[in-house]
Amino acid sequence: MYDFLIIGVGSAGCNIAYLLKKAGKKVAIIDREGVAGGASGVAGAFLSPLPGKKNPYNNLVNKSLEYALDFYQNLIPSSVNKKGVLRVPNDNFNKDKLKDNDIEYVYFDDKRLKNISKNFKDIDGYFYENAATIDPLEVCKRLIEGCDFYQKDIKNLTYKKDFYEIEELKTKNIILAQGVSSPLVEYPYMKISPIFGLRIDVKTSTNIPFSIHKSISISANKKDGTVAIGATHERHDTSLVECTTTCEKCKFYIDKEKEQINTLLNQADELIKLENLEVVKTYKGARATIKSYFPVIGEIINYKKSLEKYPSIKNGTKIPQNLLEYYPNLYTINALGSRGFVFGPYIAKILSEHILNNKEIPVEISTQKLFYKTARKCKL
Ligand SMILES: Cc1cc2nc3c(=O)[nH]c(=O)nc-3n(C[C@H](O)[C@H](O)[C@H](O)COP(=O)(O)OP(=O)(O)OC[C@H]3O[C@@H](n4cnc5c(N)ncnc54)[C@H](O)[C@@H]3O)c2cc1C
Repeated sequence: MYDFLIIGVGSAGCNIAYLLKKAGKKVAIIDREGVAGGASGVAGAFLSPLPGKKNPYNNLVNKSLEYALDFYQNLIPSSVNKKGVLRVPNDNFNKDKLKDNDIEYVYFDDKRLKNISKNFKDIDGYFYENAATIDPLEVCKRLIEGCDFYQKDIKNLTYKKDFYEIEELKTKNIILAQGVSSPLVEYPYMKISPIFGLRIDVKTSTNIPFSIHKSISISANKKDGTVAIGATHERHDTSLVECTTTCEKCKFYIDKEKEQINTLLNQADELIKLENLEVVKTYKGARATIKSYFPVIGEIINYKKSLEKYPSIKNGTKIPQNLLEYYPNLYTINALGSRGFVFGPYIAKILSEHILNNKEIPVEISTQKLFYKTARKCKL
């Protein structure tokens, strides 16, 4: 009998597993693909700030980033390559947006960049010191040390009185950390849409002093000498692709691979000349996002039963969240989008404090916010 069973062993599942285990709980984790077999094993993994005027979203990103950098440096310093990031203005982030924020930066003009490396193209940008890359697989493995791991493809959940039964396993609580995969219970108010992406590792004789980001990111040279370049962003009709497998095995990528690698290499070439370039590895994955781009954590509300009980929610009646109908002892941590390793440690901390000490979850990342929004718009 476990206290917690976590389904999905990516950044979300590993971070919450780590904290619950640390709090003395008996924790098991399950994944059909192994550790970091989904989007998490694919990530660059760049940890960069989000500049711009303060708003709730970049506030969460930057708070999470600060927390994550400290957390990874304490937990597994060998995995952190903290060299900073140069942000080069583009259509989404013009110079005003890059300058006008609370994050400290240094402006590098093209001459200064060329003094650092003759390989820089004619670019300028804003350098943010508080940025790093990590090794996602190493981090995930470290986070789940001491948890029991089962490689299984879970098809459904059975709840019997006070516990869940999954084949030979019993548990009091379940946390779904499934990324883009079809959820094991229905909570249609949390509509996950996948954003597919491809990234590469290359070998190059060029020395890259820090990460460079425009529309794509190039990492500083990693310890093994390779450089990460990523990633492409592509939505496609989810009805055509059922996310029950990894992107490596997904038909969607078969014809696209060459084209996407070329896109990355061309965009990288606009920033810095990479000499003696060789692509050594390709990674493909799908980011789980919702419309607002916020991650989501908390108890899973039973949408249908809650609306049957309180149909007036649809007309805007305010029913307190504790009166809604919930699936018993069932939580989610998902929709980490393009920043799974930035958000992971911080939102897992919030979720663990909620589960263990009943601390409130900020409304913008709560399941309740999505529930009320969907119900009031009578969307489903
Ligand atoms: C190309 C690319 C580049 C990226 N780069 C970065 C980056 O630089 N920095 C950054 O912070 N983030 C980056 N991300 C985003 C980051 O990878 C994700 O946000 C993060 O990995 C999501 O973690 P997760 O645990 O929610 O999902 P996942 O890592 O996808 O984990 C979900 C797991 O659940 C398992 N699962 C689901 N259902 C079941 C079931 N029924 N039974 C058993 N197992 C199940 C899956 O097999 C999967 O392993 C990138 C993503 C992509 C695709």
